[in-house]
Amino acid sequence: MPEKVVIIGSGPAAWTAAIYAARADLDPLVIQGNPFDKNNQENGTLPLGQLALTTEVENFPSWPAGDTRQYLKTALKEEDLPYWVTANKPQPTHGINGPELVALMRQQSVNFGTRVESKDVVAVDLKARPFVLRTHDGQTVETLTVVVATGARANYLGLASEDRYKNRGVTACAVCDGALPRFRNKPIVVVGGGDSAVEEAGYLTKFASRVDLLVRRDILRASKIMADRARANPKISLLWHHEVDEVVGNDKDGVTAIRAKNNKTGEQTEIPAAGLFLAIGHTPNVGFLGGQVELTPTGYIRWTTLGRTYTSVAGVFAAGDVADDYYKQAISAAGTGCMAALDAERYLGHHGLI
Ligand code: NDP
Repeated sequence: MPEKVVIIGSGPAAWTAAIYAARADLDPLVIQGNPFDKNNQENGTLPLGQLALTTEVENFPSWPAGDTRQYLKTALKEEDLPYWVTANKPQPTHGINGPELVALMRQQSVNFGTRVESKDVVAVDLKARPFVLRTHDGQTVETLTVVVATGARANYLGLASEDRYKNRGVTACAVCDGALPRFRNKPIVVVGGGDSAVEEAGYLTKFASRVDLLVRRDILRASKIMADRARANPKISLLWHHEVDEVVGNDKDGVTAIRAKNNKTGEQTEIPAAGLFLAIGHTPNVGFLGGQVELTPTGYIRWTTLGRTYTSVAGVFAAGDVADDYYKQAISAAGTGCMAALDAERYLGHHGLI
């Protein structure tokens, strides 16, 4: 018997799809990735996805940091307060961090009957019905529908020193990490010339004492309105023709400076910095699809119908960052994961498969 729905991935899109599919009695199987694979370890495509590489998550609704009872007291009238707000129970003060958040999502899906396999899907046959998925151990899985939720990986420069200071000052997500204490009132370097780079540079000026934006050419790829905003921000300095040579730091403080080079003059400079934020694009994880699902010009899975998670292959749905090059947030990924499960359920019902 083929599976009714197989979900490939391990981030908020995948687990939300699994929660909905399990509760719809579709008995979903999630193929979450192989934690022992060297490529997965190097690319950050391990089970639990990009969130597992972050620290505090403060923007996922329902997980505020701090004293939630006090928050509720400010938001609700006394008589509307839930009983546990006034009950005398210990109060957790931290919100949630990325690995906790996504592990809880996985647990929630498992509690409803989701099965999980720690394998990589390495090839697919989407012309066959049912679809055939081949995993890295040579096994095959047949399934009536597929939800692709394999996410995207942030691009890094590929320097050994960059690797050494990942999560100790080197990051590729300003929204995730910008407000951390290690960056407060300290100088920061951002690399990139696209919309992400200028947006992240602007965002980081809320916390940093200054932001040096290193651009490898003498022009920004970013849209004019966003580029103008960066140029007008007194806390941002644009350094044209600059590339990172080395991340400088130590075990105690993490990143302390960036050694950069002017690629026109060859001149080297050491820029004091508590952080290096990479904003040089993302690569969606679509290799295993072997070109059988239509992609956008930038390599993301194309959603073929507005407001749906349909792809170019009927019965294959896409959710989260693998199809979203624009919002790229945990909450929006979770939303499209929910949509993909509902789309799969309706597809199965429509075709008399359940
Ligand atoms: P982009 O691909 O648009 O830009 C990547 C940037 O990184 C380019 O400037 C590129 O330089 C630079 N780069 C690439 N590799 C290197 C490297 N090895 N060293 C130094 N620099 C490098 O990616 P974004 O993430 O910025 O944007 C992705 C999409 O999301 C775009 O469509 C963008 O418009 C959209 N977006 C929109 C936002 C908004 O509207 N608010 C916010 C964020 C993103 P070069 O130019 O020389 O190639």
